[in-house]
Amino acid sequence: MARSTSDGGRSADAHRRAQRGLTRLLTRDMRGLRRLIIPSRLEASVPTWIEAVRALVEQYGAASSSLSADYYEAERIAAAVTGRFTVPLADPPPDEQVDNSLRWATKDLWERDPDSPDTTEAQLQPMDVRLEQAEKKAEAVTQKLVIDQGRSTVQEAVRQDRQAVAWARAAALGACAFCKMLATRGMVYKRETAGFRSHDGCHCGVVPVFKGQKFELSDHAREWERLYRDHAAPYPGDQLRRFRRALADNGHLPAL
Ligand SMILES: [Zn+2]
Repeated sequence: MARSTSDGGRSADAHRRAQRGLTRLLTRDMRGLRRLIIPSRLEASVPTWIEAVRALVEQYGAASSSLSADYYEAERIAAAVTGRFTVPLADPPPDEQVDNSLRWATKDLWERDPDSPDTTEAQLQPMDVRLEQAEKKAEAVTQKLVIDQGRSTVQEAVRQDRQAVAWARAAALGACAFCKMLATRGMVYKRETAGFRSHDGCHCGVVPVFKGQKFELSDHAREWERLYRDHAAPYPGDQLRRFRRALADNGHLPAL
């Protein structure tokens, strides 16, 4: 039985890759829907597009949840804990949340009076540029809506399962400084109220920790932790910026 677990274990990596694969398929399907937005008829076409995207979020969110449930069950078996447990699948986000995210992503498509002080730089761009930007934003927000469902499924399972004690963040080597900073904190006990903080384009995973298991930071997360302790922790108010710089100086941030 697995007496220890880690943010960098083989199964955590495999699970993150599976969720990432789902993101790729989602992006491909999102691009297929792009033609539904007709620039000359935004009023009529954007709601149709939103409806189609909402269906994708529902479909892919369910897939993300069930991948997470399979992962959780496999981890539970590997930890050899006793008793049965059925993983509850997270609900899809409310329609309103999906709508608001997509309205935000497409807000610069609408014509505005160029002389109005509210007009943004983005709104002054030609339509094809604005469409491109709206598409990028929409892909990012739907990715978060979908993958958050998988992450919530693991978190909620940890909360309800009497054999689970904590969860930890598994950040990819290519993750941003914010995610790496949170990953260095290791396991978070389930009685702590802290939720999982993700952002658009975040590929971090949630690793469950069971009774009898010892959580150990992976080698790379331990290195991030050392950089944080030495270069960021002593500077309250400026920690994230200093951590980001320390990561970059030591080759731990991907080139942007
Ligand atoms: Zn992340």
